[in-house]
Amino acid sequence: MKTALVLGGGGFIGNHLVTRLKKEGFWVRAVDIKRPEYSETLADEFIIGDLRDQKICESVFDQPFDEVYQLAADMGGAGYIFSGEHDADVVHNSAQINLNVAHYGNIAKIKKLFYSSSACIYPQHNQLDPENPNCAEASAYPAAPDSEYGWEKLFSERMYLSYHRNYGMNVRIARFHNIFGPEGAWTGGRDKAPAAVCRKVAEAADGGEVEVWGDGRQTRSFLFIDECLEGVRRLMDSDFMGPVNIGSDEMVTINELVEMTAEIAEKKLTLKHIPGALGVRGRNSDNKLIEEKLGWKPHFSLKDGMAIMYTWVQEQVEKAKAGK
Ligand code: NAD
Repeated sequence: MKTALVLGGGGFIGNHLVTRLKKEGFWVRAVDIKRPEYSETLADEFIIGDLRDQKICESVFDQPFDEVYQLAADMGGAGYIFSGEHDADVVHNSAQINLNVAHYGNIAKIKKLFYSSSACIYPQHNQLDPENPNCAEASAYPAAPDSEYGWEKLFSERMYLSYHRNYGMNVRIARFHNIFGPEGAWTGGRDKAPAAVCRKVAEAADGGEVEVWGDGRQTRSFLFIDECLEGVRRLMDSDFMGPVNIGSDEMVTINELVEMTAEIAEKKLTLKHIPGALGVRGRNSDNKLIEEKLGWKPHFSLKDGMAIMYTWVQEQVEKAKAGK
């Protein structure tokens, strides 16, 4: 039986990945500082542990795992990452985790490591035009990410690539672009746009208002979780190391995302634009490289994904109202 180690396995993508790997027949160990919030883990072993701690990290790498998925990071939505208030923690915590994982993973002679980087590594100056953002993989350098979160991701990409060059570590690197789906943060400041929009629409009365940060004309693309996992598994099974984008190329404005969600909810709502943390002006996944290297790219539509997402968020809002 193939063995997998999922670091950050209590998080949104990590927990979904554990479920997928179990379906595929892997023996899975997950590690996180917290258990999944909305469902029971299917991992064979779930270790609560802080990966910043060298001893903990050393102890979870007690065997040469066939596949290691490094998803643990101090992260959140725009309100958390782009406000500037958490920069020191974001960089320190995630870098410490990655330094430990590369070091102890190498000692344990793991067979393959997946690292989740981010679209936030792309230079800000290529994302000023909301209609034509450039996020082709090669555009990452000269580097100029707009957040410390992005800088740390770029540093860690480079560190894993160094382990590949100097120690022969077999790595795969993907740059995720806004992954969303049920069981992600939907409130509390770490929620990202799709979840936050679903919550605001679910909470709004028909005919009421929805608050949107900025003018709402900033563009983004959002990828449904199942497609993200499909891309990750395909990348792991391929010979291509990356870095490669895993994201949707169906770009929308935030205003369009809100209107789409209101339509799904069958509510008539007015958009109220207020100041808020925004990030870059435009961002979209460039999927030429993934299509060329893996012969695959995501195709699930945003509206279908948002319909599933809305149903789940609406349930959470109802439960919270009922005090459950
Ligand atoms: P998440 O916050 O739900 O998952 C990250 C997990 O890491 C959390 O469960 C957290 O508890 C865990 N963690 C944090 N510090 C830890 C520590 N010291 N020791 C052990 N565990 C620790 O986020 P996610 O959306 O599931 O993202 C997974 C990965 O993908 C992250 O590395 C993130 O940066 C990257 N990513 C995600 C997106 C996205 O849209 N969701 C986009 C780009 C990149």
